[in-house]
Amino acid sequence: MTDCIFCKIITGDIPSTNVFRDELVTAFRDLHPAAPTHILIVPNKHIDSINALENRDEPLIGHLFTTARQLAAREGIAEGGFRLIINTNADAGQTVFHLHLHLLGGAPMKHPMG
Ligand code: 5GP
Ligand code: ZN
Repeated sequence: MTDCIFCKIITGDIPSTNVFRDELVTAFRDLHPAAPTHILIVPNKHIDSINALENRDEPLIGHLFTTARQLAAREGIAEGGFRLIINTNADAGQTVFHLHLHLLGGAPMKHPMG
C-alpha cells in the first residue's frame, strides 16, 4: 500500500527505530511511547486490521505473538509484566490501518490502557 505509514517504515522510506526484522514481521519503537517500552510489531505484508484477517494468516499472527514474547524478554520486561494490544477500528482508537501489535511495559499500568 503506497499511502500506508507502516508499509513505508517496513521498506525504509520512513525512518524508525527498528528493533527486529525477519521474513514475516518488523518491530520498531512507537513514535509517541505510552510506556517506557512501547514497541509496535507489524506484519511485513499489508493487512488493514483484524477485520481483514484471513484463515491463511494464522501462522503470521502466531508469529507476531512469539516475536512479542522474544522482544519482551530482550527488553527486560517479561518478568515484571507487559501488555499486548491490537486496536481495531474507530471505537478502539485505531489510527494506523496496518495491523500492529503494541508491546507495552516497563512500569505499572492502569486498566484498561497503559
Ligand atoms: P493505533 O492507535 O492505530 O493502535 O496505534 C498507532 C500507533 O502508531 C500510535 O501509538 C502512534 O504513536 C504510532 N505511530 C504513528 N505514526 C508513527 C510513525 O510514523 N512512526 C512510529 N514509529 N510510530 C508511529
Ligand atoms: Zn501497510
